[in-house]
Amino acid sequence: MTDTETAAIHENASNSQRVLIAGTVLTGRPDEVLHDAALVIDGSRIVWIGTREQLPEEFESWPTERFEQSTILPGLIETHAHLGARPGLHPDVPAPEWHEQGWNALHSVFWARRLASVGVTSVQSLGSAFYTDVVLREAINRGLVEGPRIVAAGPMITTTAGHDWRTGSEVDSIDDIRHAVREHHKAGVDVIKVGATGGFFTPGSAQWKAQFTVEELSALVEDAHRLGHRVAAHAHGTEGIRRAVEAGVDYIAHGTFISDNGTTKFIPELADEIARKGIYVDVAAPPSYPPVPGETIAPRAHDLYEHGVKFVTGHDIGAVIPPEAYLFGLYQLEQAGIPRKEILIAATSRAAAAIGLAGVTGVLAPQYDADLLVVDGNPLEDIHSLEHKRRIIIRGKDFTPDPVPEYRGRKPAPQGHKPTNNVLEERFQRLERARLQNW
Ligand SMILES: [Zn+2]
Repeated sequence: MTDTETAAIHENASNSQRVLIAGTVLTGRPDEVLHDAALVIDGSRIVWIGTREQLPEEFESWPTERFEQSTILPGLIETHAHLGARPGLHPDVPAPEWHEQGWNALHSVFWARRLASVGVTSVQSLGSAFYTDVVLREAINRGLVEGPRIVAAGPMITTTAGHDWRTGSEVDSIDDIRHAVREHHKAGVDVIKVGATGGFFTPGSAQWKAQFTVEELSALVEDAHRLGHRVAAHAHGTEGIRRAVEAGVDYIAHGTFISDNGTTKFIPELADEIARKGIYVDVAAPPSYPPVPGETIAPRAHDLYEHGVKFVTGHDIGAVIPPEAYLFGLYQLEQAGIPRKEILIAATSRAAAAIGLAGVTGVLAPQYDADLLVVDGNPLEDIHSLEHKRRIIIRGKDFTPDPVPEYRGRKPAPQGHKPTNNVLEERFQRLERARLQNW
């Protein structure tokens, strides 16, 4: 970030020199909880944190807000969003393609505001047409629009006709790959997103198949790292996950472990390898394929958690999941048996590290940006207290939330009705029939 940008952010936050007092503060560091605590914000940064008794005299005359029954915690982080228009959603005009870019930009503002409204103060965008996410990041940094901090990938790098090709960058050789990475760098991305396997919602794409060789992925990782960018790989199929891990990606989106027969088969040894390499994995994966009607974004997170994988809270928000589903995703992690304190770490400090913002956000400590929530109750005791927000503060500035619709999970499919994602289910059934037709 340039000095001008930093100055702009500070100016934007200059109204916020203040002391917050709270019954409890979760700092975002494992097991660090402060009681009867004070936190001091100067501009966009935290300058002091500790117990109220220890508050230095110099801050005593500063404006003070008291939240004795509340908890302060780091702002939540979405590590896997798609900022732009929802697929298939166009302006209602005779030639919507003329307006696609503008529509996409406006829609990204809508998503960003809604994410902030549920308490998300940083977002990693993993696939956005027209580099909309890069522009949105700049607009937010300059205070043109309000929203969470954005980490932008621009269009996903994929193969010709590969997953998300309509909004992605299509490449078919190592030269193409290097060119695409450099072009993304030129466009100002923060992270490189690559489609390591096929995906849903792209006709003709096979989720269980790898899209790139290890050699190709290694070239991509090498060039991205040379330019200072992390690599996030979209990976449903097990072979694609394996190749991405071997090539040294930093982050895996989905990590679904779809085997070649179209069903989910968790591979413990591969999870161990992911853990050993310290690769972050988001949990935007339904627990099984073929999908069970009514299943939502409950993830494979518990298996990954048990194998010591650094899982984080990315929900694929903007692709199929709306922003208001974010907290529901956290509740599902709890239902899956993951301890609340682990979920809160995955959604704050670890998520920040996963998206390249360690040392900037995700922890409440001096020098960190003041990205935080004040909620009634204590989410360590009841995670639903994240719904009862008193303040959403992004880079030192209060964000006034928009009304957010209630989200209680995807509706179960009616009896006898096929799920929309039935490609894998059909494949599984056909392979079963084919096995018997072998004479
Ligand atoms: Zn995605």
